[in-house]
Amino acid sequence: MIEKVKSLAKKYAPEFIQVRHMLHANPELSYQEFETSKFIQGRLRELEIPYDVIATTGVVGLIKGKNPSKRIVALRADMDALPINEENDVPYKSRNPGIMHACGHDVHTTCLLGAARILQELNEEWEGTIKLIFQPGEEKNPGGASIMIRDGVLENPKPQSIFAMHVHPGLPIGKLSFRGGKVMASADELYMTIKGKGGHAASPHLCIDPILIASELIISLQQLISRHNNPFNPCVLSITSFQGGTTTNVIPNEVKLMGTFRAMNEDWRTKAHDLISKQAKGLVESMGGQLDLHIDKGYPAVHNHEGLNASARKKAAEFLGEEAVEETELRMGAEDFGYYAQQIPACFYRVGVMNKEKGITSGVHTPTFNIDENAIEIGMSMMAWLGISIEEKTATQVPL
Ligand SMILES: [Zn+2]
Ligand SMILES: [Zn+2]
Repeated sequence: MIEKVKSLAKKYAPEFIQVRHMLHANPELSYQEFETSKFIQGRLRELEIPYDVIATTGVVGLIKGKNPSKRIVALRADMDALPINEENDVPYKSRNPGIMHACGHDVHTTCLLGAARILQELNEEWEGTIKLIFQPGEEKNPGGASIMIRDGVLENPKPQSIFAMHVHPGLPIGKLSFRGGKVMASADELYMTIKGKGGHAASPHLCIDPILIASELIISLQQLISRHNNPFNPCVLSITSFQGGTTTNVIPNEVKLMGTFRAMNEDWRTKAHDLISKQAKGLVESMGGQLDLHIDKGYPAVHNHEGLNASARKKAAEFLGEEAVEETELRMGAEDFGYYAQQIPACFYRVGVMNKEKGITSGVHTPTFNIDENAIEIGMSMMAWLGISIEEKTATQVPL
């Protein structure tokens, strides 16, 4: 079976590199993936794969093998691009100014379409049902995954496990990386307005200085993390914007702060929100100011199911060789795949796209991000192979 999947991937890779070029040249922002969605639907129709459209632009296809109810595995690709102006000088450069597939979601969509073609062609030779999930809005709250789940993507039929790949520009082409348990962080946005009382900078005693209060607040919040969080529990709070005042001799009325709070443990995350609120309010009021605080809750942490991840890693090594498979590092970035992982056993793995010899080294979310396109053949064949080969007992035998 490995040889069949590999030879189909090799045969179709040139076609899917063209698909990737088309998607890359026509990027669409989160929740506006209308043309991308239509394109995916067209390809599924050509392959005679039935599908539903949910969450406005999301597409959910079903491929049935033999004994369709025996095992149900979901494969997920995200579809959205970023508000970045592409600086790559390539024939398939973005035709939509200010929008770019700078996180590789064009590659993920392409690989899932490629996998669909392989799976459909071999559908007499594997057992179960494969659910193809093309998801909008990964890059923007509330996260397309949460909307797809609300709209029933994990029901009728309910998958026993779910996989997603992500391109990794720090990993050389030809390699895959896996990790069990925690892999990515939750990400919440902090918005704070500190209201004081403005006036002449030479008479601070007649004012309530929001610049000073905000400065104390930033330091105090860092202390909160360092004193209340278990040091073995990864967590980051970064204040990323400090806006207030316009000149040298006026104390302003207010200061606005923004930042991000990232964690890998849901209990700590909830507790930290409460601590941040109480400490910020207490400190600002003790200095005579008033605080408006809003924490915009983002994606949960991504926790890979240990048993499923171990099984996927083993299958990947069987497919590509032991030397091609590595352990992925922990990252404090966020992914809305965490929502699926809260519902069913999940595995989020990475596909290397870096090629130093070809000068392909830029990170995701940069205007020069690109991939070594040999990753398309690897990505599409691995998706198909995991869909076919993961055993149904993997997910249920190992407790969550
Ligand atoms: Zn991204
Ligand atoms: Zn991404």
